Amino acid sequence: MTRIVAIGECMVEMAPLAEAGTYRMGFAGDTLNTAWYLAKLLKDRAQVDYFTAVGTDAVSDQMLAYLDRETIGTASILRRADRTPGLYMIQLQDGERSFSYWRSQSAARTLAQSGQDIDTALRGADIAYVSGITLAILPDADRVTLLGALEQFRSAGGAVVFDPNLRPKLWPDASTMTDAIMQAARLSDIVLPSHEDEATWFGDATPLDTAERYAHAGAQTVVVKNGPGEIVMLHGGRTSRHHPEPVTDAVDTTAAGDSFNAGFLASRIIGTSLDQAVERAARLAARVVSHRGALVIEAVSAGDLIN
Ligand code: ADP
Repeated sequence: MTRIVAIGECMVEMAPLAEAGTYRMGFAGDTLNTAWYLAKLLKDRAQVDYFTAVGTDAVSDQMLAYLDRETIGTASILRRADRTPGLYMIQLQDGERSFSYWRSQSAARTLAQSGQDIDTALRGADIAYVSGITLAILPDADRVTLLGALEQFRSAGGAVVFDPNLRPKLWPDASTMTDAIMQAARLSDIVLPSHEDEATWFGDATPLDTAERYAHAGAQTVVVKNGPGEIVMLHGGRTSRHHPEPVTDAVDTTAAGDSFNAGFLASRIIGTSLDQAVERAARLAARVVSHRGALVIEAVSAGDLIN
């Protein structure tokens, strides 16, 4: 059975309820969202594990219990007595969502202090899934440790899947961000970027430019998302283009890219062709943007994506 290990930060999410000043606590984060969709799509056809660091507090316990309930493996998650999980709050003002974060001292920022912990988490895995946010939250030395562990994982036959997920606010400056992103891309098999961000920070004129830059860095497969626009895939020198179904009722694009990545990977894991995997990924993401929230069970429960 395929085993996937997603590496990154799961945060506490406080989402507003109808009554002013009241919130519902949930758990989310880019790599966690992808892990959640992978677990829901693949069910018993794969083992999906999450690797991060959390605290020893009650909220951390609740987070792990939540992951367990959602059938995401927690066995290798590190516990830090002197840290707690990061948190974000969503504010609704005139129908617009804004986000406030408390994550600068989160436990997840310590996830790559020891290369041995990462090796242990990746032992026996087939796929490691990381994002640019995973890299961004780490101290420089720990980022080197993580990239070294991924390189070793890959040379032992594992596949590395990477979503650059550019978040300049999490980085000291743009060149540190773009350098680290390209370093990770050089040891990735599959890169899943979003063109809009890449155009801003790498100056790519078209989605094909984005695809070619990552392919030149060494990725065998690059799938470039572009909101409602054309998706461009470059695999082994062959380019294909796909048009997402138009969504007339897009209400919340949170986790569009994260769910797309899960749809694509899950499809590949069960042996779907590359082109069909892109089509299914886009169908899943289209359903996700038609609902509020990051983790949309209605988007996967139809059961028609993976069969
Ligand atoms: P990210 O969330 O990483 O910024 P994108 O916004 O590029 O990612 O969206 C990822 C995928 O979600 C797209 O490739 C597309 O398949 C789907 N998607 C996003 N927005 C829309 C939309 N308005 N209509 C249809 N599909 C969408």
